[in-house]
Amino acid sequence: MSKIVIVGGVAGGASAATRLRRLNERAEVIVFERGPYVSFANCGLPYHIGGVIKERENLLLATPESLRAEYDIDVRTGQEVIAIDRHKKEITVRVLDTGETYHESYDKLILSPGARPFVPPVPGVDLPGVFQLRTIPDMDAIKAHIDSGKARTAVVVGGGFIGLEMTENLMHRSMDVTVVEMLDQVIPPLDFEMAALVHRHLRLKNVRLALSDGLKSISQGENGQLAVTLASGKVVYADMVVISVGVRPESDLAKSAGLEIGPRGHILVNESLQTSDTDIYAIGDVIQVNNPITGQPTAIPLAGPANRQGRLAADHIAGRNVAYQGTQGTCIVKVFDLAVAATGLNAKQLRKQGIAFRSTITQSPDHTTYYPGASHIAIKLLYAPNDGRILGSQIVGAKGVARTINVLSTAIKTGMTVFDLEHLELAYAPPYGSARDAVNIAGFVAANELRGDTDIMQWDEIARLYPEKDGVLDVRTSLEWSLGHIDGAVHIHVEELRQRLGELSKDKRWVVYCKEGRRAYIAERILKQHGYQAANLTGGWDIYEPAVGQQSNFDEWQGAAHSAALDLSQPVLVPAEIAGSDQGTAIELDACGLACPGPIMAVYKNMQSMQAGQVLKVTATDPGFARDIPAWCESTGNQLLDLKQEGATLTALIRKQGGSTLTAPVRAQVQPTPEAAVSSGNGSKAKTLIVFSGELDRALASFIIANGAAAMGQQVTMFFTFWGLNVLRRPEAVPVKKNLIEKMFGWMLPRGADKLKLSKMHIAGAGTAMMKAIMKAQNVDPLPQLIKSAQENSVRLIACQMSMDIMGIKAEELIDGVEVGGVATYITATDKANATLFV
Ligand code: FAD
Repeated sequence: MSKIVIVGGVAGGASAATRLRRLNERAEVIVFERGPYVSFANCGLPYHIGGVIKERENLLLATPESLRAEYDIDVRTGQEVIAIDRHKKEITVRVLDTGETYHESYDKLILSPGARPFVPPVPGVDLPGVFQLRTIPDMDAIKAHIDSGKARTAVVVGGGFIGLEMTENLMHRSMDVTVVEMLDQVIPPLDFEMAALVHRHLRLKNVRLALSDGLKSISQGENGQLAVTLASGKVVYADMVVISVGVRPESDLAKSAGLEIGPRGHILVNESLQTSDTDIYAIGDVIQVNNPITGQPTAIPLAGPANRQGRLAADHIAGRNVAYQGTQGTCIVKVFDLAVAATGLNAKQLRKQGIAFRSTITQSPDHTTYYPGASHIAIKLLYAPNDGRILGSQIVGAKGVARTINVLSTAIKTGMTVFDLEHLELAYAPPYGSARDAVNIAGFVAANELRGDTDIMQWDEIARLYPEKDGVLDVRTSLEWSLGHIDGAVHIHVEELRQRLGELSKDKRWVVYCKEGRRAYIAERILKQHGYQAANLTGGWDIYEPAVGQQSNFDEWQGAAHSAALDLSQPVLVPAEIAGSDQGTAIELDACGLACPGPIMAVYKNMQSMQAGQVLKVTATDPGFARDIPAWCESTGNQLLDLKQEGATLTALIRKQGGSTLTAPVRAQVQPTPEAAVSSGNGSKAKTLIVFSGELDRALASFIIANGAAAMGQQVTMFFTFWGLNVLRRPEAVPVKKNLIEKMFGWMLPRGADKLKLSKMHIAGAGTAMMKAIMKAQNVDPLPQLIKSAQENSVRLIACQMSMDIMGIKAEELIDGVEVGGVATYITATDKANATLFV
């Protein structure tokens, strides 16, 4: 009868022990566990602290007694294995209660000692109130600290899986939590733009987020609080600190036994999980494994691999011919109402390993949008450029994330390509999916890219575009545009694109974007088929905007204000102090399932029929609503009382203000549209100027007004038409093709701001020179400088396409940073302005 000894009785160790017994009824199986518990659910620990898993016992999946009764396994808790004698094939065991030691022989030894939390060597990490979380006793200590009622604030050091699970659960306990993360992003398996979606959600949940900042020290502060000093010098006072900055393999025992150890301290094993001593196996967090995608060594501390390795080591000991196939790192974590998942390699890892790849981001509903409760998931797919083999994926969304990542994990495991994803047959009925599943769509887009139907542009490439060669085209609706857009972009709604192609220069490449990529793809195809160069900003505005926008909120965080939170799950009785004079129940609007700008349009429509003071409670599932509704309220002068997310559902409470700008649209010929709600009327502070004149004094006046308005924080658009175009001409001659009349116009018209003449008293140049001298003496900037300042102040300069055509002025002849646009572009800007000046 063989004797198998196992060190470590949790994920890997317990799996190995029970599998051994199922395969061999006669073997002697002994499990040594240092702690007081075996086979407990470490993954559930944060949720018991948060009160989500109510019963502590539910975490104890098995006990020494149950393992003895059901499996006849000898489990010895509170006993630590402190040495291995490989020659004698025996271990030395210390009984922790008594300190006594004894020896135990083995035929086969399985090491599953796991990995311990890394504690950075900085002052104060051993102070009372500073915790790590690995075991049931760790959990009990943290929970007791919170249950004592003394802890209202916490600092979580580390924005990885366990750190964010702890953050969420501490907030369930009504604590204010600051997350400190040394990297510029949370959840390292994600690429930055996907992590930015998580940052936005954390800010929405009122987590205080300090990215790119580390832990420097902890000291005892006043009032019994801990003073946590960050690398930046900032200090956070908190009642407790949880350190969760990664783990280190517990390989000391193996090392002192002379087993081979890898460069990062992990035990080296072969494909049967045998160490350099074939009678000793090692499994779980302590070992180095191969990544099946690269064939390179890696170490991925996850419960799934540990469990499968336990089973496999037992199989091999039982005489079965098995091989471990590697770990590709499929993982998922709940971050409040988001599920965040990854599998395979991310862009950072692929670049580091010098592996060529392409990537796309698609956004698809988890189920058909007409069935209630749909919400979008963002899927990043990374694949090989030569054959489309899938290399990795990351997913962020509220629903359907687990099933989607599991399909993609399986696809990677079986060596599928993006072309295979196009053909996957996945279950569909309206409550559960879409006829074109999110996985199919990810495959379609990536396959389109590899076939050359679409050119993909990444969010971070926008900042590196050359304005002379590249233009950015926004094809969303005017309402979406008004709620935020890429600086310098030209706006033409996809439905108008075919009619307005003439406004776009064919000499540029147009990077097209919409909310998530679908409309941009239609626009890209239109452009390409009309001879334009075009590319699609992958993931669209919904990926670009969070990635380039705010990430940390450390400095402006105001505290979570738990007591003020309204329960939005019930019909909201609006208290008098919130509703003003009109106390009553909020008017309810269900905009779930509508994609942007649907929810905003629905809000606008409802608000029109409401009285000032009344409150609208809107529910929506479009993730962009979280960003759009504050912007909409701000620009219309309505008051956003509350914004919350529960599951996939965002709920906003909006009070209609007396002076809000919900007036009829300016454009009489069109139906009332929500654009008007954000554009016209008293509340808007934007200004538009039509610069018709090409005379120096008039141009000066218009730029002085524009700069003044911009300095007051107002959005300014200047539309240059006819003679006004001269203001924007480059001073130097630009070689462009022109017919004779166009050439004559060019010779007669002044070339740029420096060549303009006064409208009066020009006096053969003397008056103009005098005016310039006086301006210099009085420290007034010359016109070219005023133009530059305006551009620096984000004043939008639009050259009228129609006037340019008539006067034969080409886009290349205009100074950098000028948009060429049609009347519609200008009228859209006037819709948002409260004053228009004609100069
Ligand atoms: P462990 O499960 O850690 O077991 C090792 C055991 O060995 C320990 O109990 C230790 O006391 C004992 N031991 C060590 N040395 C000795 C010795 N010399 N003598 C006797 N006993 C010894 N993974 C996921 O995939 N999903 C999750 O959601 C997830 N959540 C997690 C949440 C938390 C809070 C933690 C701590 C981990 C989480 N993990 C999760 C990781 C997962 O739990 C581990 O990957 C997995 O438990 C590793 O299994 P293991 O057998 O290698 O080590």
